[in-house]
Amino acid sequence: MSLQDIKIGDAETMGPGVATGRLKLADYPDGSPMATPVIIVTGEKPGKTLWLHGCVHGNEYCGTFIIHELLRSLDPAELSGRVVALPALNITAFNKNQRLSPFEGYGGGDMNRCFPGVEGGPLTSQFAFAVYTEMKKHADLFVDFHTAMTPDVNWALYAAYGGETGKVSRVLAKAWGYRDTLATPTDMLVGSAFMTAASDGIPSMIVEAGGKGPAFTRETVEDGAERLRNVMRAAGLLDGDVTDYGPIADFDRFEWVSAPRGGLFQPMVKCGDSIEVGTRLGRFYDIYGDDDGFAESPRKGIVLAIHPGPIMTNGETLVHIGLNPKENIL
Ligand SMILES: [Zn+2]
Repeated sequence: MSLQDIKIGDAETMGPGVATGRLKLADYPDGSPMATPVIIVTGEKPGKTLWLHGCVHGNEYCGTFIIHELLRSLDPAELSGRVVALPALNITAFNKNQRLSPFEGYGGGDMNRCFPGVEGGPLTSQFAFAVYTEMKKHADLFVDFHTAMTPDVNWALYAAYGGETGKVSRVLAKAWGYRDTLATPTDMLVGSAFMTAASDGIPSMIVEAGGKGPAFTRETVEDGAERLRNVMRAAGLLDGDVTDYGPIADFDRFEWVSAPRGGLFQPMVKCGDSIEVGTRLGRFYDIYGDDDGFAESPRKGIVLAIHPGPIMTNGETLVHIGLNPKENIL
């Protein structure tokens, strides 16, 4: 007994095993395809389909490495169900080591605000449409990988929808097990792949692990692959006991704080630190090398991301704060 074969782009399964190929997203001006790589691992036993995205933002490579690390460890004989991975989703941005597609015109181009996509819309919306059409057809569960700015980033979000979708989304997030986890309300992050999928009944979460570009460690990659296997155990795709990484915070909101000023900047807090109103987040210097004051937190919460410096421009993300964790967590 095996799963029914599927075809995504030119990645076509033929029973249990690994299939690779490309899914066309759009055309380059020369007519060749902008095509994102697809890896499908089909188990020998029936089960759910876990759908994975890496590099929705093109320079968030830690997710690509976590996905690859997981896939290398999978044995179809031990897998119940299927994993479909798009590890370098925003492929044109991936190739240029940048967040958004270098080919995007006036559409804005933040792919994680473009789902479910628009057929014939701006370029990145067309990317999202091509992907989401397949995802909606095949995915039972969804994990989306992102990064922030520094290697110590480790937090997660799940879609806090009502009913079974929200319940299973929290099971995935609990099995992933990062303490700092947001129960994402339905009015937040509209247009992201995970909230769109959840609105269609697909339990979904985002992992924020590591920083952009090269700012991540081998340890984070290996730990991420093991946590992903734990998610698969919790969801029944792999056998074995589910590791309990401890309670999760269930933040009910987060806040991105933009820098109100520029300067040379060195952070004074790390991801996961508890902060109060007025906590010093970092120190400013002016261009002549003199002390130029501190950045202070406007909110009480947990640091999810902090600007690494060394230079700051007005309006950049200074700090990202998780708000209102459940009392008994911290
Ligand atoms: Zn991202």
